[in-house]
Amino acid sequence: MAVEQTLSLNKPDATRRILVCAICQVFEAAGLRIVAQKRLHLTLEQAKAFYAVHASRPFYNDLCSYMASGPIVAMVLQGEGAIAKNRDVMGATNPANAAEGTIRKLFAESIEANSVHGSDAPETAVQEIAYFFSGLELVG
Ligand code: ADP
Ligand code: MG
Repeated sequence: MAVEQTLSLNKPDATRRILVCAICQVFEAAGLRIVAQKRLHLTLEQAKAFYAVHASRPFYNDLCSYMASGPIVAMVLQGEGAIAKNRDVMGATNPANAAEGTIRKLFAESIEANSVHGSDAPETAVQEIAYFFSGLELVG
């Protein structure tokens, strides 16, 4: 399997509860290497642009307000099959459905405040990494 890079976000519920290191430990234990990382606070406009793919969904406005409600930590995870591996360790979108040991089972507060974002495919990974990082910031 090829080495991939994927975008991960610690969402505002995670930074508020001081869970960044605990979540990063799950990534690193799964063999995902953090090759870029920064903390930032999105504006509402920036959150709306990031989640534009969900603009027609009923939860879009609430989701964007939530994503702009506090700091996030953006990172690029690298490893063999990193996109699918990250989705595996994240767990299901709704923590009620997330498997034991996954980040969302361990930490998520609700289907909205579910602690982490992860790219879902190679194309979205490339777009989402470029939204937050320049090539110079990726240090493998
Ligand atoms: P994922 O983050 O697992 O890829 P989606 O891409 O479907 O999930 O949704 C993006 C984000 O929107 C979710 O992580 C969650 O924060 C929020 N969300 C998804 N579905 C709902 C819902 N039914 N109600 C409220 N928020 C939702
Ligand atoms: Mg998604």
